[in-house]
Amino acid sequence: MAANNNPVPLIPNVLTVKVVPPSSSRTLQEGDKVISGLSTLTIIAKPNFGPRDIPEERYKQEKTNIDVTVKNAIIMTPHKFTEWLFEKGLIRNNQYCQVHVDKQGCQILYKLGIYPNITKFPHSGGFVWVSECCSSKWISVYYHSIFEGETYPPITILKLIYHWLFQSQIVQVLNWVRVDAEYLEYFYGLMRAVCISASHEKFSRMGGKNERIEVAVISLGNKDAARIDVLGVVEVDSHIVKLKAFESIDKGQPNSNKKHGIQMLRNLLDWVHLDSTICIDSSISKQALIGLGFVNVKEGPSYQEQNLSLSGVYHNHNTVHYLRTNVVPMLQNKTQGMSTSLIQQFLDELVWREMYGRTPQELFTNFIRHLAEMTHLNLNENLKKKLERILQDPTKNVKFNSLNFVGNMKPKESIIFKESTRSTPLYKEMVSVENPPPAQSPQVISL
Ligand SMILES: [Zn+2]
Repeated sequence: MAANNNPVPLIPNVLTVKVVPPSSSRTLQEGDKVISGLSTLTIIAKPNFGPRDIPEERYKQEKTNIDVTVKNAIIMTPHKFTEWLFEKGLIRNNQYCQVHVDKQGCQILYKLGIYPNITKFPHSGGFVWVSECCSSKWISVYYHSIFEGETYPPITILKLIYHWLFQSQIVQVLNWVRVDAEYLEYFYGLMRAVCISASHEKFSRMGGKNERIEVAVISLGNKDAARIDVLGVVEVDSHIVKLKAFESIDKGQPNSNKKHGIQMLRNLLDWVHLDSTICIDSSISKQALIGLGFVNVKEGPSYQEQNLSLSGVYHNHNTVHYLRTNVVPMLQNKTQGMSTSLIQQFLDELVWREMYGRTPQELFTNFIRHLAEMTHLNLNENLKKKLERILQDPTKNVKFNSLNFVGNMKPKESIIFKESTRSTPLYKEMVSVENPPPAQSPQVISL
């Protein structure tokens, strides 16, 4: 297409979304109890590519297998269940003292023990870390894991992870698992934080020579005052998606509009190889993309003009379609009162699910693996605090090695959890705790 001397500013495809008062659109009914009208629990990040591409039979079979795995786990004895958590990596298989060092200046490893009187550590079946350097000799096996400091037992937490992964009906989860809505909202936030950090960590740049990348923008909100613009970038062949939310600007001001467009498109520099074939429509500034260094930008017909014989023609219809059928329904009528950060959390969850949750087996295995990897980072604060921080600004660099660590123990030097690296499980090598002290003073960290 010929270069345009009069660059078209980036004007997103504005969708008119009817604004419904929160009380009627975002309220869940649980028996007589009304769950908070502004609850984020009503926002469901439904992935598209997995369910679309995987045969239904395979989906059902894999889901049944996961159901069996989780059902078997939650009826285990506390001792067996703790072994299962070690195997999955959901509790740490090593634990360093964060205060003391040995003669060589290395951090001291705690030893895994079993406390003979299991009523002392009922949820772990007696498993406990034993410190030979600290005044608190006994340290919970849940230390620095998602289970640390929980009011709810680990089995309840596993149930919540399962229900979050498979997006069970919220009202049913509240009835089945017996947690309150406020806690559930908090916990589901932590799950999103895992998705955000893991997506950053695992992401590798999209596109490359002759790879087709579609770029589109859509606005959410009322036609007169669109609030949120969502940038969608899709690597068409592999179905890799990136999404980012921006506060909308006043469309009446051409200069700020142009700036806004460039600010959005600048994200492509972090996501996409410069030699990719970038497919856009006229709502996106070709000049801006060329100015950013993309050498191969193709402007195609806009989505409204789509017809089925367009295959092979450069267009961004897959992405516009994706934004309209997946992103808009997820956030429609729900963005009122929500910060851009909060909206971004759900976009990142959706991106994670598209990438890692294409089948039930992948969804479960990948999430457990990513949570296990995060559990085994030597963070400078406990895992849940770190996850809370990730939620505050999901657009920050929250790759694993950009999180803060204890001393110089960056993940590369630390023992990152690997499922297959141990021939003998750690809990089979644990020390036996003989003659435990009387029960008067074992100081335990947050069981
Ligand atoms: Zn110590």
